[in-house]
Amino acid sequence: MSWWTDLSSFFFPRLCPICNRKMLAGEKGVCTLCLLDLPFTRLNDRAGNEMEQLFWGRFPIERATSLFFYAKGGDVARLIHAMKYRHRPALCREMGRLMASRLSASRFFDGIDCLVPVPLHPDRFRQRGYNQSEQLAAGISQLTGIPLCTTAIQRLYNNTTQTQKSGAERMQIDGQLFGLTPQAATLLAGKHILLTDDVLTTGSTLTACADTLKHLPGLRISILTLAWSK
Ligand SMILES: [Zn+2]
Repeated sequence: MSWWTDLSSFFFPRLCPICNRKMLAGEKGVCTLCLLDLPFTRLNDRAGNEMEQLFWGRFPIERATSLFFYAKGGDVARLIHAMKYRHRPALCREMGRLMASRLSASRFFDGIDCLVPVPLHPDRFRQRGYNQSEQLAAGISQLTGIPLCTTAIQRLYNNTTQTQKSGAERMQIDGQLFGLTPQAATLLAGKHILLTDDVLTTGSTLTACADTLKHLPGLRISILTLAWSK
């Protein structure tokens, strides 16, 4: 089907989501020039790194890392905007595969039993057509072989306008932002899970997720995000 690929890329060229240049045949996700310029955190699997410290005292965490630093208006912000708002589920999966390949040299994935993406509220899922965190996790799963679990935790509130709410209101919502499904214990008890999300900012969403999950017996939690707004 390469003639078809050639033909469709002639009429519908794949554009880099960061610089908007036409991508070459072998380039995946973002163009090579942009990829070389992206701000990799290089935290890898370093125990007790700064990102991991953000969660200390909030819930027991095994390890945490992120692939890129996030800056408002920067290249990573443009990439994530495309992943979320320009209907690019394949780009999300490609970024998941990039995370997996860049971390595969470290021992970050050792002992992880399953990948648990932060869920979207069903209304938001319908609106977007996919969950970017789930697509990222699917990309990671393709390369690492670690299974994906999307049916243990659900989002109870659609906190789309969270930025307009006061700190107190946000905390109130965050306390009950997620809920366990009836099959959660069967799926996750005694497992070491990797919570995955696109961007880490204050850590309140991931903490709310962990607060809901931590009641499962024997569960251990690690965190991986594509980007970290430090
Ligand atoms: Zn580019």
